Amino acid sequence: MIDVHCHLNFRGFENDYDEVINRAFAKGVTKIINTGTQISSSRDAVKLAEKYDNLYAIIGVHPHHADKPEENWLEEMKKLTLHPKVLGIGEIGLDYFSYKSNGIVDKELQKTLFEQQIMLAYRSKLPLQIHNRLAGEDVIQILLNHKSYLSNPPGMFHCFAGTKEVLKSALEMGFYIGFDGNVTYKGLAPGETVSLPELITYTPLERIVCETDSPYLTPLPFRGQRNEPQYVILVGETISSIKHIPFKQVQSQTTKNVYAIFNKIIQ
Ligand SMILES: [Zn+2]
Ligand SMILES: [Zn+2]
Repeated sequence: MIDVHCHLNFRGFENDYDEVINRAFAKGVTKIINTGTQISSSRDAVKLAEKYDNLYAIIGVHPHHADKPEENWLEEMKKLTLHPKVLGIGEIGLDYFSYKSNGIVDKELQKTLFEQQIMLAYRSKLPLQIHNRLAGEDVIQILLNHKSYLSNPPGMFHCFAGTKEVLKSALEMGFYIGFDGNVTYKGLAPGETVSLPELITYTPLERIVCETDSPYLTPLPFRGQRNEPQYVILVGETISSIKHIPFKQVQSQTTKNVYAIFNKIIQ
């Protein structure tokens, strides 16, 4: 299994990322992709990727940070795109969930940064890794407006949630769909209207990728603890039981899908 989206570049893994990474590889995880959420964490993702053969990085400014991007952030990102282990631009997109810590970041700022990073991905010929929370319609609209600037395939939605209409539009544009440990939770997340098993059933296996978003979204039965890339296997097992197909098939097809999205990854 490949974990296409996690944050071992975050502080929570500072003291034991080596053990965490080796635990994942020992369990059968073959590759791990760390994603940045601002310039500093993007740089850290690249540094980590330089230390291990099977680690890669995705760089970007998350919509949470759209109101406080670091100085010369776009120039810095442009430099990082040239790195051989930088596979894509992410996590970028829109987030309309109201967080206790910072509410909702100004939507126009979020849109501007999203568009700037779509154009950077176009110029550097990299796919997108999209973050969307309760903003599916606007994310789709912006992507449609920039259709001629998207690569083929255009990338993936990470930690998908939303309506079937948004999912259908994403699939029609050629995007792959990432699912996480929250597929093991019961009920709906705040603001959502469609359950994750329903969305998984609707998405063809040929378009699914698995991820953990570690340290967040720890699957059952480990919910409450810090998440780790080794648990991407639990995501794969849950998809296998929802779709009634063998785990081995989920494993091999989702791996193929990762190679189809990220052409800089070494198989
Ligand atoms: Zn995200
Ligand atoms: Zn994330």
